[in-house]
Amino acid sequence: MFNVVGMNEFCGMANGDSHCWLCQKPVSTRALFCHQCGTIQPVREIDHFARLGMERRIDIDIEMLERQYAALERALDPERFLIRGMGERGHAAKQLEALKDAYNALRDPLQRGRYWLKLNEKIFNEAVAANVLVGELRQALTDATEPSQCDTIAQRAGQALEQGVMQLMQALRGENWDQANETLIELDGVEGILDEVRARRDGLTPQ
Ligand SMILES: [Zn+2]
Repeated sequence: MFNVVGMNEFCGMANGDSHCWLCQKPVSTRALFCHQCGTIQPVREIDHFARLGMERRIDIDIEMLERQYAALERALDPERFLIRGMGERGHAAKQLEALKDAYNALRDPLQRGRYWLKLNEKIFNEAVAANVLVGELRQALTDATEPSQCDTIAQRAGQALEQGVMQLMQALRGENWDQANETLIELDGVEGILDEVRARRDGLTPQ
């Protein structure tokens, strides 16, 4: 069951913990528009889930995310602010930017996992203790002299990435922070290998 914040909350004064920059009436921190005067509000410090009106949890309903994003994007369409003053146009543009950042961070499971750790203040020392899998792939890449060898490495790395993302999600669900960090380090390494193997393959392909 996924909860979602209705659009009306985005112009509500739920907590009234901030003030409208124009009319000074209290507005909720997550409000896009002032409850009183309807003016677009400046970007405030809220987490990505709140920005998209999603419940804060690691597993998200992607369809709902898409719907929320589309609705908010429409509300922030620059066309709507064309006849507004500079201040309002500026806030709308920054809100749209913040919305896109939030959307991109939540849509991709790997990025969402990374963000989730940060949000929960569970980012540990990222010093990569030599990861076995990454080490193996790197060695194979060093030894590769044929495009077909590169393809095999790319395939292994691709599979590792897919499995790693699932492992990461599982670790985050179980609040197994050590495991999550370890997996994230491996994923970073595997992503790096994937970039390198593509470049390498291009280099090996006869012109
Ligand atoms: Zn106002």
